[in-house]
Amino acid sequence: METQPTASHFIDGTFLEDPEGQDFESSYPATGAVIARLTAASAATVDKAVAAARAAQPGWAATSPAERGRILRRAADLMRARNRELSELETLDTGKPLQETLVADAASGADCLEYFGALAAGLTGEHIDLGGGPGGSFAYTRREPLGVCAGIGAWNYPIQVASWKAAPALACGTAMIFKPSETTPLTALKLAEILIEAGLPKGVFNVVQGAGATGALLTGHPGVDKVSVTGSVPTGRKVMAAASDGLKHVTLELGGKSPIIVFEDADIENAIGGAMLGNFYSSGQICSNGTRVFVHRAIKERFLERLKQRTETIILGDPMDENTQMGPVVTRAQFDKVLGYIETGSSEGGRLVTGGAASGDGLFVQPTVFADVTDGMTIAQEEIFGPVMCVLDFEEEDEVVARANATQFGLAAGVFTKDLSRGHRVVGRLEAGTCWINAYNLTPIEMPFGGVKHSGIGRENGHAAIQHYTQMKAVYVEMGNVDSPY
Ligand code: NAD
Repeated sequence: METQPTASHFIDGTFLEDPEGQDFESSYPATGAVIARLTAASAATVDKAVAAARAAQPGWAATSPAERGRILRRAADLMRARNRELSELETLDTGKPLQETLVADAASGADCLEYFGALAAGLTGEHIDLGGGPGGSFAYTRREPLGVCAGIGAWNYPIQVASWKAAPALACGTAMIFKPSETTPLTALKLAEILIEAGLPKGVFNVVQGAGATGALLTGHPGVDKVSVTGSVPTGRKVMAAASDGLKHVTLELGGKSPIIVFEDADIENAIGGAMLGNFYSSGQICSNGTRVFVHRAIKERFLERLKQRTETIILGDPMDENTQMGPVVTRAQFDKVLGYIETGSSEGGRLVTGGAASGDGLFVQPTVFADVTDGMTIAQEEIFGPVMCVLDFEEEDEVVARANATQFGLAAGVFTKDLSRGHRVVGRLEAGTCWINAYNLTPIEMPFGGVKHSGIGRENGHAAIQHYTQMKAVYVEMGNVDSPY
Protein backbone atom coordinates (compact mmCIF):
# COMPACT_ATOMS: atom_id res chain seq x y z
CA MET A 1 0.00 0.00 0.00
CA GLU A 2 1.31 3.48 -0.96
CA THR A 3 1.55 5.45 2.27
CA GLN A 4 4.15 8.10 1.61
CA PRO A 5 2.27 11.43 1.55
CA THR A 6 2.90 13.95 -1.22
CA ALA A 7 4.75 16.04 1.39
CA SER A 8 4.84 16.39 5.17
CA HIS A 9 2.87 19.60 5.63
CA PHE A 10 -0.32 21.02 4.17
CA ILE A 11 -0.42 24.82 4.27
CA ASP A 12 -2.65 27.23 2.37
CA GLY A 13 -4.11 24.42 0.30
CA THR A 14 -0.71 23.07 -0.78
CA PHE A 15 1.47 20.15 0.24
CA LEU A 16 4.96 21.31 1.06
CA GLU A 17 8.21 20.05 2.52
CA ASP A 18 10.42 21.84 5.03
CA PRO A 19 14.09 21.76 4.01
CA GLU A 20 15.07 23.02 7.50
CA GLY A 21 12.95 20.43 9.35
CA GLN A 22 14.30 17.33 11.09
CA ASP A 23 13.51 14.00 9.42
CA PHE A 24 11.34 11.45 11.17
CA GLU A 25 9.64 8.19 10.25
CA SER A 26 6.34 6.51 10.80
CA SER A 27 6.30 2.73 11.07
CA TYR A 28 3.75 -0.08 11.13
CA PRO A 29 3.67 -1.34 14.74
CA ALA A 30 2.82 -4.91 13.73
CA THR A 31 6.05 -5.42 11.77
CA GLY A 32 8.24 -2.40 12.42
CA ALA A 33 8.33 -1.61 8.67
CA VAL A 34 8.83 2.07 7.88
CA ILE A 35 5.73 3.28 6.06
CA ALA A 36 6.52 6.98 5.56
CA ARG A 37 9.35 9.48 5.94
CA LEU A 38 8.52 13.03 6.89
CA THR A 39 10.07 16.24 8.17
CA ALA A 40 9.12 18.16 11.30
CA ALA A 41 8.04 21.76 10.85
CA SER A 42 10.67 24.35 11.70
CA ALA A 43 9.74 27.76 13.10
CA ALA A 44 9.58 29.15 9.54
CA THR A 45 7.01 26.55 8.48
CA VAL A 46 4.94 27.13 11.62
CA ASP A 47 5.03 30.89 10.84
CA LYS A 48 3.85 30.13 7.30
CA ALA A 49 0.95 28.01 8.57
CA VAL A 50 -0.12 30.64 11.10
CA ALA A 51 0.07 33.38 8.46
CA ALA A 52 -2.07 31.30 6.07
CA ALA A 53 -4.66 30.65 8.76
CA ARG A 54 -4.77 34.30 9.82
CA ALA A 55 -5.19 35.45 6.23
CA ALA A 56 -7.97 32.95 5.50
CA GLN A 57 -9.94 33.25 8.75
CA PRO A 58 -11.83 36.54 8.21
CA GLY A 59 -13.17 35.35 4.85
CA TRP A 60 -14.18 32.03 6.38
CA ALA A 61 -15.91 33.78 9.29
CA ALA A 62 -17.80 35.93 6.76
CA THR A 63 -18.96 32.85 4.82
CA SER A 64 -22.58 32.16 5.70
CA PRO A 65 -22.99 29.56 8.43
CA ALA A 66 -25.23 27.59 6.07
CA GLU A 67 -22.43 27.39 3.50
CA ARG A 68 -19.87 26.46 6.16
CA GLY A 69 -22.22 23.67 7.19
CA ARG A 70 -22.65 22.43 3.61
CA ILE A 71 -18.88 22.17 3.19
CA LEU A 72 -18.51 20.18 6.40
CA ARG A 73 -21.34 17.84 5.43
CA ARG A 74 -19.77 17.29 1.99
CA ALA A 75 -16.50 16.45 3.78
CA ALA A 76 -18.41 13.93 5.92
CA ASP A 77 -19.72 12.24 2.76
CA LEU A 78 -16.25 12.16 1.19
CA MET A 79 -14.79 10.71 4.35
CA ARG A 80 -17.41 7.96 4.44
CA ALA A 81 -16.81 7.18 0.77
CA ARG A 82 -13.08 6.78 1.51
CA ASN A 83 -13.58 4.92 4.81
CA ARG A 84 -11.77 1.74 3.79
CA GLU A 85 -8.70 3.54 2.45
CA LEU A 86 -8.56 5.78 5.54
CA SER A 87 -9.07 2.83 7.87
CA GLU A 88 -6.27 0.85 6.26
CA LEU A 89 -3.96 3.84 6.56
CA GLU A 90 -4.94 4.30 10.21
CA THR A 91 -4.28 0.61 10.86
CA LEU A 92 -0.82 0.90 9.31
CA ASP A 93 0.00 4.02 11.30
CA THR A 94 -1.39 2.88 14.69
CA GLY A 95 -1.43 -0.95 14.52
CA LYS A 96 -5.08 -0.98 15.59
CA PRO A 97 -7.03 -3.81 13.95
CA LEU A 98 -8.96 -3.03 10.79
CA GLN A 99 -12.03 -4.43 12.54
CA GLU A 100 -11.85 -1.34 14.78
CA THR A 101 -10.60 1.33 12.41
CA LEU A 102 -13.37 0.52 9.91
CA VAL A 103 -16.01 1.55 12.47
CA ALA A 104 -14.39 3.86 15.00
CA ASP A 105 -11.88 6.22 13.40
CA ALA A 106 -12.76 7.92 10.11
CA ALA A 107 -16.35 6.83 10.78
CA SER A 108 -16.42 8.90 13.97
CA GLY A 109 -14.64 11.73 12.16
CA ALA A 110 -17.37 11.71 9.49
CA ASP A 111 -20.10 11.72 12.15
CA CYS A 112 -18.44 14.73 13.73
CA LEU A 113 -18.16 16.67 10.44
CA GLU A 114 -21.81 15.90 9.75
CA TYR A 115 -22.96 16.91 13.25
CA PHE A 116 -21.16 20.25 13.30
CA GLY A 117 -22.08 20.76 9.63
CA ALA A 118 -25.71 20.51 10.70
CA LEU A 119 -25.16 22.76 13.71
CA ALA A 120 -23.31 25.55 11.85
CA ALA A 121 -26.44 27.32 10.64
CA GLY A 122 -28.10 26.89 14.01
CA LEU A 123 -25.57 28.92 16.03
CA THR A 124 -27.44 31.70 17.75
CA GLY A 125 -27.00 34.28 20.48
CA GLU A 126 -29.54 35.33 23.10
CA HIS A 127 -31.98 38.20 23.37
CA ILE A 128 -32.05 39.62 26.92
CA ASP A 129 -35.05 41.76 27.90
CA LEU A 130 -33.95 44.65 30.16
CA GLY A 131 -37.49 45.92 30.83
CA GLY A 132 -39.59 48.83 29.59
CA GLY A 133 -41.85 46.91 27.22
CA PRO A 134 -41.59 47.02 23.41
CA GLY A 135 -39.70 50.32 23.44
CA GLY A 136 -37.48 49.27 26.33
CA SER A 137 -33.82 48.48 26.33
CA PHE A 138 -32.43 45.09 25.62
CA ALA A 139 -29.16 43.29 25.23
CA TYR A 140 -28.12 40.51 22.95
CA THR A 141 -25.19 38.17 22.67
CA ARG A 142 -23.23 37.10 19.64
CA ARG A 143 -21.06 34.01 19.40
CA GLU A 144 -18.02 35.13 17.42
CA PRO A 145 -15.26 32.92 16.02
CA LEU A 146 -12.14 32.64 18.15
CA GLY A 147 -9.75 33.42 15.31
CA VAL A 148 -6.95 30.91 14.81
CA CYS A 149 -6.77 27.71 16.81
CA ALA A 150 -3.89 25.23 17.07
CA GLY A 151 -5.11 21.64 17.35
CA ILE A 152 -2.62 19.11 18.73
CA GLY A 153 -3.41 15.39 18.59
CA ALA A 154 -2.51 12.14 20.37
CA TRP A 155 -1.59 8.94 18.49
CA ASN A 156 -4.40 6.63 19.54
CA TYR A 157 -7.21 8.07 17.38
CA PRO A 158 -5.42 10.24 14.82
CA ILE A 159 -8.11 11.14 12.27
CA GLN A 160 -10.84 11.06 14.90
CA VAL A 161 -9.01 13.54 17.14
CA ALA A 162 -8.24 15.79 14.13
CA SER A 163 -11.91 15.76 13.10
CA TRP A 164 -13.21 16.27 16.65
CA LYS A 165 -11.15 19.47 16.79
CA ALA A 166 -11.53 20.68 13.20
CA ALA A 167 -15.28 20.21 12.77
CA PRO A 168 -16.53 22.47 15.61
CA ALA A 169 -13.79 25.04 14.96
CA LEU A 170 -14.61 25.31 11.27
CA ALA A 171 -18.37 25.31 11.90
CA CYS A 172 -17.84 28.39 14.10
CA GLY A 173 -15.72 30.26 11.53
CA THR A 174 -12.44 29.63 13.34
CA ALA A 175 -9.36 28.58 11.31
CA MET A 176 -7.07 25.77 12.43
CA ILE A 177 -3.51 24.57 12.23
CA PHE A 178 -3.46 20.92 13.27
CA LYS A 179 -0.40 19.03 14.42
CA PRO A 180 -0.91 15.28 14.59
CA SER A 181 1.20 13.15 16.90
CA GLU A 182 4.65 12.47 15.46
CA THR A 183 3.88 8.76 15.94
CA THR A 184 0.82 8.80 13.63
CA PRO A 185 1.23 11.66 11.17
CA LEU A 186 -0.58 10.39 8.08
CA THR A 187 -4.35 10.63 8.24
CA ALA A 188 -4.53 14.31 9.26
CA LEU A 189 -3.15 15.07 5.78
CA LYS A 190 -6.03 13.06 4.30
CA LEU A 191 -8.51 15.12 6.32
CA ALA A 192 -6.94 18.30 4.88
CA GLU A 193 -7.27 16.90 1.36
CA ILE A 194 -10.90 15.95 1.95
CA LEU A 195 -11.82 19.37 3.35
CA ILE A 196 -10.33 21.11 0.30
CA GLU A 197 -12.18 18.73 -2.02
CA ALA A 198 -15.39 19.53 -0.12
CA GLY A 199 -14.88 23.24 -0.90
CA LEU A 200 -13.08 24.58 2.18
CA PRO A 201 -11.13 27.71 1.21
CA LYS A 202 -7.34 27.39 1.27
CA GLY A 203 -5.64 28.27 4.54
CA VAL A 204 -8.64 27.56 6.79
CA PHE A 205 -7.33 24.12 7.78
CA ASN A 206 -3.58 23.46 7.74
CA VAL A 207 -1.44 20.57 8.93
CA VAL A 208 2.09 20.80 10.28
CA GLN A 209 4.12 17.81 11.41
CA GLY A 210 6.50 17.30 14.27
CA ALA A 211 6.88 16.33 17.91
CA GLY A 212 6.54 18.37 21.10
CA ALA A 213 8.93 21.06 19.86
CA THR A 214 6.63 21.86 16.94
CA GLY A 215 3.64 21.76 19.29
CA ALA A 216 5.43 24.25 21.55
CA LEU A 217 6.09 26.56 18.59
CA LEU A 218 2.36 26.58 17.88
CA THR A 219 1.33 27.06 21.51
CA GLY A 220 3.70 29.97 21.96
CA HIS A 221 2.93 31.63 18.63
CA PRO A 222 1.48 35.15 18.96
CA GLY A 223 -0.74 34.51 15.94
CA VAL A 224 -2.55 31.62 17.67
CA ASP A 225 -5.59 32.52 19.79
CA LYS A 226 -6.44 29.12 21.18
CA VAL A 227 -4.82 25.73 21.70
CA SER A 228 -6.78 22.50 21.88
CA VAL A 229 -4.63 19.52 22.81
CA THR A 230 -5.34 15.84 23.29
CA GLY A 231 -2.51 14.17 25.17
CA SER A 232 -1.04 13.29 28.52
CA VAL A 233 -1.33 15.30 31.73
CA PRO A 234 2.34 16.45 31.64
CA THR A 235 1.81 17.77 28.10
CA GLY A 236 -1.40 19.50 29.19
CA ARG A 237 0.53 21.27 31.96
CA LYS A 238 3.22 22.45 29.53
CA VAL A 239 0.62 23.67 27.04
CA MET A 240 -1.31 25.55 29.71
CA ALA A 241 1.86 27.18 31.00
CA ALA A 242 2.97 28.21 27.51
CA ALA A 243 -0.50 29.48 26.63
CA SER A 244 -0.60 31.66 29.74
CA ASP A 245 1.88 34.13 28.27
CA GLY A 246 -0.50 35.16 25.52
CA LEU A 247 -3.57 34.45 27.75
CA LYS A 248 -4.73 32.01 25.10
CA HIS A 249 -7.82 29.88 25.45
CA VAL A 250 -7.10 26.20 26.03
CA THR A 251 -9.03 22.97 25.71
CA LEU A 252 -7.19 20.07 27.35
CA GLU A 253 -8.26 16.47 26.73
CA LEU A 254 -5.89 14.54 28.94
CA GLY A 255 -5.35 11.16 30.54
CA GLY A 256 -7.31 9.13 33.05
CA LYS A 257 -7.47 6.20 35.45
CA SER A 258 -11.21 5.82 35.34
CA PRO A 259 -13.34 3.58 37.54
CA ILE A 260 -15.96 1.06 36.49
CA ILE A 261 -18.21 0.02 39.37
CA VAL A 262 -20.04 -3.29 39.13
CA PHE A 263 -22.73 -3.66 41.78
CA GLU A 264 -23.95 -7.05 42.99
CA ASP A 265 -27.22 -6.75 41.02
CA ALA A 266 -25.54 -5.98 37.69
CA ASP A 267 -26.07 -8.08 34.58
CA ILE A 268 -22.67 -9.77 34.87
CA GLU A 269 -22.23 -10.62 31.20
CA ASN A 270 -23.03 -7.03 30.22
CA ALA A 271 -20.67 -5.66 32.85
CA ILE A 272 -17.88 -7.96 31.66
CA GLY A 273 -18.51 -6.86 28.08
CA GLY A 274 -18.32 -3.21 29.18
CA ALA A 275 -15.16 -3.76 31.18
CA MET A 276 -13.48 -5.59 28.28
CA LEU A 277 -14.49 -2.83 25.86
CA GLY A 278 -13.17 -0.30 28.35
CA ASN A 279 -9.80 -2.03 28.73
CA PHE A 280 -8.88 -3.97 25.60
CA TYR A 281 -10.22 -1.99 22.63
CA SER A 282 -7.34 -0.34 20.76
CA SER A 283 -4.99 -2.52 22.84
CA GLY A 284 -6.07 -0.54 25.87
CA GLN A 285 -4.77 2.73 24.41
CA ILE A 286 -7.84 4.84 25.16
CA CYS A 287 -7.82 7.80 27.51
CA SER A 288 -11.25 7.10 29.01
CA ASN A 289 -10.59 3.42 29.71
CA GLY A 290 -12.08 2.09 32.94
CA THR A 291 -8.87 0.54 34.16
CA ARG A 292 -9.94 0.29 37.81
CA VAL A 293 -12.82 -2.18 37.80
CA PHE A 294 -14.47 -2.26 41.24
CA VAL A 295 -16.52 -5.46 41.56
CA HIS A 296 -18.82 -6.12 44.51
CA ARG A 297 -17.37 -8.86 46.71
CA ALA A 298 -20.52 -10.98 46.43
CA ILE A 299 -20.02 -11.50 42.67
CA LYS A 300 -16.27 -11.09 42.36
CA GLU A 301 -15.25 -14.72 41.81
CA ARG A 302 -18.06 -15.36 39.31
CA PHE A 303 -17.12 -12.14 37.50
CA LEU A 304 -13.43 -13.10 37.35
CA GLU A 305 -14.12 -16.61 36.12
CA ARG A 306 -16.23 -15.41 33.16
CA LEU A 307 -13.91 -12.46 32.52
CA LYS A 308 -10.95 -14.85 32.23
CA GLN A 309 -12.85 -17.15 29.86
CA ARG A 310 -13.97 -14.32 27.64
CA THR A 311 -10.60 -12.51 27.67
CA GLU A 312 -8.86 -15.69 26.53
CA THR A 313 -11.00 -15.80 23.39
CA ILE A 314 -9.72 -12.41 22.15
CA ILE A 315 -7.98 -12.86 18.79
CA LEU A 316 -4.62 -11.12 18.94
CA GLY A 317 -2.66 -10.85 15.72
CA ASP A 318 -2.37 -9.36 12.25
CA PRO A 319 -4.24 -6.04 12.37
CA MET A 320 -5.04 -6.22 8.65
CA ASP A 321 -7.00 -9.46 9.11
CA GLU A 322 -10.59 -8.43 9.72
CA ASN A 323 -11.05 -11.27 12.23
CA THR A 324 -8.33 -9.90 14.48
CA GLN A 325 -9.69 -8.24 17.62
CA MET A 326 -6.50 -6.86 19.09
CA GLY A 327 -3.29 -5.61 17.48
CA PRO A 328 0.05 -4.52 18.88
CA VAL A 329 0.65 -1.43 21.00
CA VAL A 330 1.88 1.56 19.09
CA THR A 331 5.62 1.84 19.76
CA ARG A 332 8.50 -0.03 21.37
CA ALA A 333 8.51 2.56 24.19
CA GLN A 334 4.84 1.91 24.88
CA PHE A 335 5.42 -1.86 24.74
CA ASP A 336 8.26 -1.65 27.29
CA LYS A 337 6.21 0.63 29.51
CA VAL A 338 3.18 -1.69 29.53
CA LEU A 339 5.28 -4.79 30.27
CA GLY A 340 7.03 -2.84 33.03
CA TYR A 341 3.67 -2.08 34.65
CA ILE A 342 2.70 -5.76 34.41
CA GLU A 343 5.89 -6.70 36.24
CA THR A 344 5.22 -4.06 38.89
CA GLY A 345 1.63 -5.28 39.26
CA SER A 346 2.86 -8.81 40.04
CA SER A 347 5.64 -7.69 42.34
CA GLU A 348 3.28 -5.44 44.33
CA GLY A 349 0.91 -8.36 44.98
CA GLY A 350 -1.63 -8.26 42.11
CA ARG A 351 -3.05 -11.72 41.27
CA LEU A 352 -2.55 -12.38 37.56
CA VAL A 353 -5.81 -13.86 36.28
CA THR A 354 -4.86 -14.02 32.63
CA GLY A 355 -2.32 -12.63 30.16
CA GLY A 356 0.70 -10.88 31.57
CA ALA A 357 3.18 -11.37 28.75
CA ALA A 358 4.24 -10.31 25.29
CA SER A 359 2.92 -12.34 22.38
CA GLY A 360 4.76 -13.19 19.17
CA ASP A 361 7.53 -11.08 17.63
CA GLY A 362 5.99 -7.65 17.26
CA LEU A 363 4.78 -5.21 19.88
CA PHE A 364 1.91 -7.46 20.95
CA VAL A 365 0.86 -7.64 24.61
CA GLN A 366 -1.65 -10.22 25.81
CA PRO A 367 -4.88 -8.82 27.24
CA THR A 368 -4.12 -8.90 30.93
CA VAL A 369 -6.28 -8.99 34.06
CA PHE A 370 -5.06 -8.47 37.62
CA ALA A 371 -7.34 -9.29 40.56
CA ASP A 372 -6.91 -8.44 44.26
CA VAL A 373 -5.60 -5.04 43.28
CA THR A 374 -5.59 -2.53 46.12
CA ASP A 375 -5.88 1.23 45.85
CA GLY A 376 -2.26 2.01 46.67
CA MET A 377 -0.67 -0.24 44.02
CA THR A 378 1.13 1.51 41.18
CA ILE A 379 -1.10 -0.20 38.60
CA ALA A 380 -4.16 1.25 40.36
CA GLN A 381 -2.71 4.74 40.45
CA GLU A 382 -0.97 5.38 37.13
CA GLU A 383 -2.26 5.46 33.57
CA ILE A 384 -0.79 2.39 31.82
CA PHE A 385 -2.29 2.97 28.36
CA GLY A 386 -2.14 -0.69 27.44
CA PRO A 387 -4.38 -3.80 27.72
CA VAL A 388 -4.14 -4.17 31.50
CA MET A 389 -7.30 -4.34 33.62
CA CYS A 390 -7.16 -4.02 37.41
CA VAL A 391 -10.01 -5.65 39.35
CA LEU A 392 -10.56 -4.35 42.89
CA ASP A 393 -13.33 -5.43 45.22
CA PHE A 394 -15.68 -3.47 47.46
CA GLU A 395 -18.58 -3.89 49.87
CA GLU A 396 -20.46 -0.60 50.29
CA GLU A 397 -21.69 2.15 47.97
CA ASP A 398 -20.18 5.02 50.01
CA GLU A 399 -16.88 3.19 50.22
CA VAL A 400 -16.64 2.55 46.48
CA VAL A 401 -17.58 6.12 45.55
CA ALA A 402 -14.87 7.50 47.84
CA ARG A 403 -12.28 5.07 46.46
CA ALA A 404 -13.31 5.69 42.84
CA ASN A 405 -12.81 9.43 43.38
CA ALA A 406 -9.48 9.09 45.17
CA THR A 407 -7.29 9.95 42.19
CA GLN A 408 -5.97 13.07 40.49
CA PHE A 409 -7.82 12.07 37.31
CA GLY A 410 -11.49 12.61 36.45
CA LEU A 411 -12.03 11.71 32.83
CA ALA A 412 -14.72 9.04 32.86
CA ALA A 413 -16.60 6.50 34.97
CA GLY A 414 -19.01 3.62 34.51
CA VAL A 415 -21.66 2.08 36.76
CA PHE A 416 -23.28 -1.30 36.20
CA THR A 417 -26.47 -1.96 38.18
CA LYS A 418 -30.09 -2.87 37.51
CA ASP A 419 -31.16 -0.36 40.15
CA LEU A 420 -31.63 2.83 38.13
CA SER A 421 -31.93 5.07 41.20
CA ARG A 422 -28.59 3.80 42.39
CA GLY A 423 -27.10 4.25 38.92
CA HIS A 424 -28.09 7.92 38.74
CA ARG A 425 -27.23 8.57 42.39
CA VAL A 426 -23.75 7.10 42.03
CA VAL A 427 -22.83 8.87 38.77
CA GLY A 428 -24.00 12.08 40.45
CA ARG A 429 -21.32 11.54 43.11
CA LEU A 430 -18.48 10.46 40.81
CA GLU A 431 -15.83 13.04 39.90
CA ALA A 432 -15.72 12.45 36.16
CA GLY A 433 -16.52 14.43 33.01
CA THR A 434 -18.20 11.56 31.15
CA CYS A 435 -20.18 8.71 32.73
CA TRP A 436 -21.97 5.64 31.46
CA ILE A 437 -24.65 3.56 33.15
CA ASN A 438 -24.70 -0.09 32.01
CA ALA A 439 -22.34 0.71 29.12
CA TYR A 440 -18.79 1.91 28.70
CA ASN A 441 -16.67 4.01 26.30
CA LEU A 442 -19.43 4.81 23.86
CA THR A 443 -18.82 8.33 22.59
CA PRO A 444 -21.54 9.44 20.19
CA ILE A 445 -20.80 12.88 18.76
CA GLU A 446 -23.99 14.29 20.27
CA MET A 447 -22.62 13.73 23.78
CA PRO A 448 -20.04 16.16 25.26
CA PHE A 449 -16.73 14.49 26.11
CA GLY A 450 -13.96 15.66 28.43
CA GLY A 451 -12.57 15.52 31.91
CA VAL A 452 -12.50 17.18 35.31
CA LYS A 453 -9.60 17.49 37.78
CA HIS A 454 -6.30 16.68 36.04
CA SER A 455 -8.05 15.01 33.11
CA GLY A 456 -8.76 18.25 31.38
CA ILE A 457 -10.51 21.50 30.71
CA GLY A 458 -13.31 21.98 28.21
CA ARG A 459 -15.49 19.59 26.25
CA GLU A 460 -15.37 18.16 22.75
CA ASN A 461 -18.49 17.20 20.81
CA GLY A 462 -22.11 18.07 21.48
CA HIS A 463 -23.32 21.67 21.65
CA ALA A 464 -20.72 22.20 24.39
CA ALA A 465 -17.86 22.27 21.86
CA ILE A 466 -19.28 25.43 20.30
CA GLN A 467 -18.47 27.35 23.49
CA HIS A 468 -14.84 26.41 23.09
CA TYR A 469 -14.36 27.63 19.52
CA THR A 470 -16.25 30.93 19.84
CA GLN A 471 -16.20 33.82 22.24
CA MET A 472 -19.23 35.68 23.42
CA LYS A 473 -19.89 39.34 22.81
CA ALA A 474 -22.69 41.04 24.78
CA VAL A 475 -24.33 44.14 23.26
CA TYR A 476 -26.49 46.60 25.22
CA VAL A 477 -29.05 48.50 23.12
CA GLU A 478 -30.60 51.70 24.55
CA MET A 479 -33.99 52.44 23.02
CA GLY A 480 -34.60 55.65 24.98
CA ASN A 481 -32.04 58.03 26.37
CA VAL A 482 -29.03 56.96 28.35
CA ASP A 483 -29.62 57.29 32.10
CA SER A 484 -26.55 59.44 32.81
CA PRO A 485 -25.92 61.48 35.97
CA TYR A 486 -23.99 64.08 33.93
P1 NAD B 1 1.58 13.17 24.55
O1 NAD B 1 1.17 14.07 25.65
O2 NAD B 1 2.92 12.59 24.56
O3 NAD B 1 1.45 13.95 23.14
C1 NAD B 1 0.24 14.51 22.71
C2 NAD B 1 0.54 15.55 21.65
O4 NAD B 1 1.14 16.69 22.27
C3 NAD B 1 1.50 15.09 20.57
O5 NAD B 1 1.08 15.62 19.34
C4 NAD B 1 2.81 15.71 21.00
O6 NAD B 1 3.71 15.94 19.94
C5 NAD B 1 2.33 17.02 21.58
N1 NAD B 1 3.23 17.65 22.53
C6 NAD B 1 4.13 17.06 23.36
N2 NAD B 1 4.76 18.00 24.09
C7 NAD B 1 4.23 19.20 23.74
C8 NAD B 1 4.47 20.54 24.15
N3 NAD B 1 5.37 20.86 25.08
N4 NAD B 1 3.74 21.53 23.58
C9 NAD B 1 2.81 21.25 22.66
N5 NAD B 1 2.56 20.00 22.21
C10 NAD B 1 3.26 18.98 22.75
O7 NAD B 1 0.45 12.07 24.47
P2 NAD B 1 0.40 10.75 23.56
O8 NAD B 1 1.43 9.82 24.10
O9 NAD B 1 0.46 11.14 22.13
O10 NAD B 1 -1.05 10.20 23.86
C11 NAD B 1 -1.36 9.46 24.99
C12 NAD B 1 -1.95 10.35 26.06
O11 NAD B 1 -3.05 11.08 25.52
C13 NAD B 1 -2.55 9.54 27.20
O12 NAD B 1 -2.25 10.17 28.43
C14 NAD B 1 -4.05 9.59 26.94
O13 NAD B 1 -4.84 9.42 28.06
C15 NAD B 1 -4.20 10.95 26.34
N6 NAD B 1 -5.41 11.03 25.53
C16 NAD B 1 -6.46 11.78 25.99
C17 NAD B 1 -7.65 11.83 25.26
C18 NAD B 1 -8.83 12.62 25.74
O14 NAD B 1 -9.71 12.92 24.94
N7 NAD B 1 -8.92 12.99 27.00
C19 NAD B 1 -7.75 11.13 24.06
C20 NAD B 1 -6.65 10.39 23.62
C21 NAD B 1 -5.48 10.35 24.36
